[in-house]
Amino acid sequence: MICGCLSQMYGKKTLDELPEADAVFVRRYSRDRTYLESIERSRRTAVISKRPAYLYDDRSPRVTLTPRHYAYVKVSEGCDNSCSYCVISRLRGRLRSRTMGSVLKEVMKISASGALKEICITGQDTTVFGKDNYGRPMLADLVDKMAALKMGVEWIRILYTHPAHYTDKLIDVVRDREKVCKYLDIPIQHISDRLLKNMNRRTRKSDIIALSKNCASASRVLPSGHPYDGRRAVSLGITKCPSRSTYRA
Ligand code: SF4
Repeated sequence: MICGCLSQMYGKKTLDELPEADAVFVRRYSRDRTYLESIERSRRTAVISKRPAYLYDDRSPRVTLTPRHYAYVKVSEGCDNSCSYCVISRLRGRLRSRTMGSVLKEVMKISASGALKEICITGQDTTVFGKDNYGRPMLADLVDKMAALKMGVEWIRILYTHPAHYTDKLIDVVRDREKVCKYLDIPIQHISDRLLKNMNRRTRKSDIIALSKNCASASRVLPSGHPYDGRRAVSLGITKCPSRSTYRA
C-alpha cells in the first residue's frame, strides 16, 4: 500500500507503474475504515484527494521514531510560497496551520514522560505559521508560549524557516528565551538576486545579508543545479553568503 507524496503526485498512474502495489491513497483517508475496507475487498484501488486537506492535531495518534530525547512537532501543512523549483505547494496544498492550543497540548503530552529534552518545530515554512488562522504569522507567539510551559524540555529548535518571513518579534524571542536554541535553519537557496527572482523566493541578497547579521549561528541550505545556475552563480552562492554558517548543498 502506498501513501504519501508519491501517491498524491501520480495518483492512479502509480498503480500502472508499480504492479506490486495493491492500493494507493493519501493520508487524509489513512484512518478511515470505509476506505480501508473497500481497499481490502477490491484490490488495486487508488483513493486520491484532489485538494490535500490533511492536518494532524494533538489527538492524532503518533508513533515517535526519533530517540526518546528529541521529537519533531509539525505546526502546519502545505505551503503558499510556490517556489519555482518546488512541487510541495502543488502536492501538499495551501498553508494549513494548526491552532496554538493544539500544538501546545501535543508538546505537553509528548514531554510528560520526562525523557524528552529537545523539540524541533517543523512545517513547510514555519515562519508563516498561523497566518491563515490568526491573520498574521504567529510563530514568535507560539515559541514564546512553548518556552514558558512547565516541562522537562530544555531546547526548542526552529527548523525550515523562510528568509522573507522573519519578524523582529521572532528574532527577539529566539534571543531572549533561554530554551530556544540560538540557531536558525534558513534555506536561503541562493545569494544571486537574479537566481532568487528566478526561484520566486521573494527575497534579495541584501535581505539575506541583513538577516544574517542578526544570527550567531545558522544553517543555510544552498541547492545547486537550478536552471541558469551556472558555475559562476554556484561559486557566488558559496563565496558571497554570509559567514558563520553551516552549508548543506
Ligand atoms: S517554501 Fe519550501 S516548501 Fe514552500 S514552495 Fe518554497 S521550497 Fe517548497
